[in-house]
Amino acid sequence: MKIRVLGCHGSDQVLNGSRGAHQCRTCAFLVNETVLVDAGTVGTALRLDEQKRIRHILLSHLHHDHIQGLPTLADNLVDAPDEPVTLTSIPSVLKGLQTHVFNDKVYPNFLKLPDPRHPVFVCRPLKPGKESELDGLRVTAIPVNHLVPTVGFLIRDNGSSFLYSGDTYVTEEIWKVAAREPTLKAALIETSFPDTMTELARTSKHLTPSVFAREFRKIGRPDLPVYVYHLKPRVREQIRRELTGLGIAKLTVLEEGQEITI
Ligand SMILES: [Zn+2]
Ligand SMILES: [Zn+2]
Repeated sequence: MKIRVLGCHGSDQVLNGSRGAHQCRTCAFLVNETVLVDAGTVGTALRLDEQKRIRHILLSHLHHDHIQGLPTLADNLVDAPDEPVTLTSIPSVLKGLQTHVFNDKVYPNFLKLPDPRHPVFVCRPLKPGKESELDGLRVTAIPVNHLVPTVGFLIRDNGSSFLYSGDTYVTEEIWKVAAREPTLKAALIETSFPDTMTELARTSKHLTPSVFAREFRKIGRPDLPVYVYHLKPRVREQIRRELTGLGIAKLTVLEEGQEITI
């Protein structure tokens, strides 16, 4: 599997670094060019022909930083949708999109436009714990512990798989699934705040480096490649320093534009 990082931060922001300006964008990961995992970034990272190749979008939860690319994508595809893009998630997320986003108030209802028989988006509900097939990938949604109903995903192809945590605080089930998955090659795990902001992390149900380390240990594979994402840009350097200090063997902090082969 090839994972292309379109956005991997907990907010949008331009940062000045030693190599010039860097655009931090909210979370979206393109798998094998046709399956998008979360939709925080779409139109600002992909050409139109690349957007047209997306067939399925897996959504971890309804928070704006994970769905904000959907209206843009709909607008870009509405002229000539080849076939609908499938929005795939737990039922409460799909219902929330219809109630709060594509409700003809915040945005037109692209679940019926441009033609109810050929809309831009269709919804496909996932049952947590049950594997589903999407464009050659097998996907299992696993509930995690966040402010709103949220799932992470185990995503498998023939011989390999990776875990995507979604936004989460201290949780259990997803690490158990990871621990017993023999094909697991990598985990993408969120960390949003530095340890000095532990209280904010706890109330907003996100991880800090210390809590991340305790959660990662629950997989029981200290050598597993782990890719950290969802850092809040304003405290990114502090989080990076704290993550580096953990001494985890194969830890990478993700950057926009990076590609991972699993
Ligand atoms: Zn969230
Ligand atoms: Zn988020």
